[in-house]
Amino acid sequence: MTSGSVAGTLAVAQVGTVATRYVGRFAPSPTGPLHAGSLVAALASWLDARAHDGHWLVRIEDVDSPRCVAGADQWILRQLAACGLMPDEPPLWQSQRGPRYQAALDRLVAQGLAYPCACSRKDIEQALAAQGRPRSRHGERVYPGTCRGGLNGRPARAWRLRVTPGIVRWNDRRLGPQHQDVEQEVGDFVLGRADGLWAYQLAVVVDDADQSVTQVVRGEDLADNTARQVLLQRALGLATPGYLHTPLVLTTNGEKLSKQNGAAALETEQPLRALNSAAAVLGLTPRGGPTATALAAWVRQWAESYNLPRD
Ligand code: GLU
Repeated sequence: MTSGSVAGTLAVAQVGTVATRYVGRFAPSPTGPLHAGSLVAALASWLDARAHDGHWLVRIEDVDSPRCVAGADQWILRQLAACGLMPDEPPLWQSQRGPRYQAALDRLVAQGLAYPCACSRKDIEQALAAQGRPRSRHGERVYPGTCRGGLNGRPARAWRLRVTPGIVRWNDRRLGPQHQDVEQEVGDFVLGRADGLWAYQLAVVVDDADQSVTQVVRGEDLADNTARQVLLQRALGLATPGYLHTPLVLTTNGEKLSKQNGAAALETEQPLRALNSAAAVLGLTPRGGPTATALAAWVRQWAESYNLPRD
């Protein structure tokens, strides 16, 4: 992909006649401190925003509260600051935004685009088995649509989006054209649970829109969620931002480096060292200190030749 042009054309996105400024964000889940893999996504989203003379935001995605670790949010913010990655506005916490997610869900339900579901995992498995359908995709069961026609007196456990048939197409600035048949591969997906937990898909779409995010830059492990998010944006009448999914840092076994497989907390006593490792994953030239000088050089390199490796 050639990129001077990619970088250049995104500085000001035209929506109708209104010029919209570039807004990017880094949206970590506070399930632990940043590690070498999450710094790649943070650095890429920061560089992309700076290279487009845009705004860069940090959003703490603590919507899945059982997985959150106390104090991890502040730890992440300190790690970002130590690396010189400072947001342009105070961070947003998803745990404070329940009323916005509720308003979006209410709107979808009122329009018949979302519906309550009473099914447990076991119910879903049994329905799929009865239909002779494959049990799972990436360990997720494709929802068979049991409650589309009503709850039949059973109590609601969750709300689901009524997924429209057809292939969802979207473009990734690094991976190229992407597509997914969400109805066949995922089915009607959960937006929120009756016990008050909001689903990542709904929260991220509502927040990106409320924060006027124009470019989503995040790790490639999240690319698989994008088609669902595009469907939700359409259902809510929201604009679809641009997407760039960054390369992952892999363990020696070839798995994605993550908190689950024991990724070490990012060492920020030597921020330039951590940043140089992340920059290398993004195909950027190693730099000496001070940190601010290295970051400024990478912003120029990113703006001149956006050339993420294709792997
Ligand atoms: N909170 C998500 C994570 O840490 C990222 C969500 C996103 O960037 O859309 O994996």
